[in-house]
Amino acid sequence: AKHSSDDSTVVFNTHLETELSQQVKLEQQLINALDRRELTVAFQPVIDARSGDLCGVEALARWNSESGPIAPDVFIPVAEKAGLIGILGSQILEEAIAQGSRWPGLQIAVNVSPLQLRNRYFAGGLKATLDKFAFEPHRLTIELTEGVLISNADQARRSISEIRALGIKVALDDFGSGFASIGSLRQFRFDRVKLDKSLVANILHDAQAAEVLDATIKLVNALGVPVTVEGIETRHQAEFARVAGSHQLQGYWFSKPLSKEELTARFLDNRRI
Ligand code: C2E
Ligand code: CA
Ligand code: CA
Ligand code: CA
Repeated sequence: AKHSSDDSTVVFNTHLETELSQQVKLEQQLINALDRRELTVAFQPVIDARSGDLCGVEALARWNSESGPIAPDVFIPVAEKAGLIGILGSQILEEAIAQGSRWPGLQIAVNVSPLQLRNRYFAGGLKATLDKFAFEPHRLTIELTEGVLISNADQARRSISEIRALGIKVALDDFGSGFASIGSLRQFRFDRVKLDKSLVANILHDAQAAEVLDATIKLVNALGVPVTVEGIETRHQAEFARVAGSHQLQGYWFSKPLSKEELTARFLDNRRI
């Protein structure tokens, strides 16, 4: 009993060290993966709600590490903390645009971390990539999360203005999952708002959830901004979102994220699903 508190301190420290060293290991693995350009891009179809046609894709980073696949929800925060998100983001962007330039007419959406926007060369780098592949700026949408609204970093705002001036579209991602307000939607005038999948998840069994989804779609439309509903997993959810006024739909009901080969084979000979 005399030593019990000492023992627990040791156990705690060991646990902390293990977590730390795992973090460091992951970071080192990620550095190597970026060096060797091992990250790939998956493309998830985005569907026009009225016609049912494919209208675009969202590019999603994929990492098949030596020890198996690691999810973006795990490695994106590691990249952000380690100062690697700029490199990671530009590799994903380049791959998405290179591929997008072989899919004429298709809209390509790319996720961008708020941290990337704090780099004053961000918009310039974006333009260089578009020029390299002769990719029309209006076919690119940058998806931003509300982190960019909360931090009132001047450089982030400047980057957004520069991106817009290039003719690139800007979407607010994951709306309804956090704090983004009606005020911020009006102030930023996004080209599109993507509703978070948590808003869709329970609408079949929870009447209030269904009303909230319906009201949120109508609210964003009332601000003059087109809506994409994400996380559509059932026919019921797709139909509900369409009737409520969502212009675009995305989710496993239509397709999971696909490799470029799968997407080309499944969608691009005949654009209908
Ligand atoms: P997100 O931008 O909200 O992307 C949508 C996520 O939902 C993707 O997860 C997608 O695979 C998943 N999803 C699509 N349809 C469904 C559905 O019907 N049901 C469910 N339950 N999930 C669905 P993923 O690919 O694991 O990405 C997770 C997050 O990681 C993304 O969320 C995004 O925030 C981040 N991320 C992914 N790629 C990048 C990137 O290149 N750069 C940055 N900065 N973040 C990225
Ligand atoms: Ca997204
Ligand atoms: Ca999202
Ligand atoms: Ca998300």
